[in-house]
Amino acid sequence: MAERITGHTELIGLMAYPIRHSSSPAMQNEAFSKMGFDYAYLAFEVDNSNLEDAVQSIRALKMRGSNVSMPNKTVVHKYLDKLSPAAELTGAVNTIVNDNGILTGHITDGTGFMAALRDNEIDIKGKKITIVGAGGAATAIEIQSALDGVAEMSVFNRKDEFWERAERNVKAINEKTNCNAKLFDLDNLEMLKSEIAASCLFVNATGMGMKPLEGQSYIPDSSYLRPDLVVADVVYSPAETALLKMAKEIGCKCMNGFGMMLFQGSAAFELWTGKPMPIEYMKETLGIKY
Ligand code: NAD
Repeated sequence: MAERITGHTELIGLMAYPIRHSSSPAMQNEAFSKMGFDYAYLAFEVDNSNLEDAVQSIRALKMRGSNVSMPNKTVVHKYLDKLSPAAELTGAVNTIVNDNGILTGHITDGTGFMAALRDNEIDIKGKKITIVGAGGAATAIEIQSALDGVAEMSVFNRKDEFWERAERNVKAINEKTNCNAKLFDLDNLEMLKSEIAASCLFVNATGMGMKPLEGQSYIPDSSYLRPDLVVADVVYSPAETALLKMAKEIGCKCMNGFGMMLFQGSAAFELWTGKPMPIEYMKETLGIKY
């Protein structure tokens, strides 16, 4: 790394708090080195209190851009000049591109999830899916899969502080895309069972299955699943959640959250450089399996 940094090297940031645990710097810097792009990617501890100054520094330092994560994803749009259609619909931004001082916000979590499905040869266009969640990850997947041509979507969530967001997501999908979306209470397990039975893909897009809920699932038993169902989980730590373990045991095709993580990074990389990440090299170098 030290050998390749010169007076010409441009900076790309990651603005979030907490952020020291992130694997994005290792992933992005490895990809820049491999592809010969003269960028350096660094993580900065930024929360809502210093976000405006941090975004202004992208312009001042002529940075190529930045990733943005919690707690800034749904706030940062205020300080940007333009938004992509998916960022506009989800109300969230995870990637900023600086084109000569004009800052555009994108969200690549949803495109990342869709690219991971394609990489696993899973096609959901024109089909029905069931997804649990209404937070950041879920919203991005719901909006992007509707934009990409999913025909029907059943969304489940608890009646917690995310319920209103679930209502907004379903409304936006029904009004702005050709997908027919419906919202259900996650407490209604009979309904969850029948909606999964009618779907080709079931997605957990909540933190269920990772600490402090590691080893747990809201799916009571494997009678909710069937071997020709694809089961995806946004969680990647652990790599195999209780849900994926149950799904694998009955023969479902499974995908953990590493694919979404890798491909959201690849989509951001492509927005900054114009070229996709060397995906097979990255999988091998980082030991990513999904
Ligand atoms: P969030 O806080 O925005 O949303 C949390 C969601 O979980 C809500 O829908 C909430 O209702 C639901 N929830 C919380 N506790 C629950 C419970 N006990 N039972 C059922 N539902 C419950 O979180 P987020 O940013 O969307 O992250 C959710 C998960 O997605 C996390 O595990 C995160 O690590 C993962 N994630 C993965 C990627 C990736 O690239 N793979 C990207 C972003 C987030």
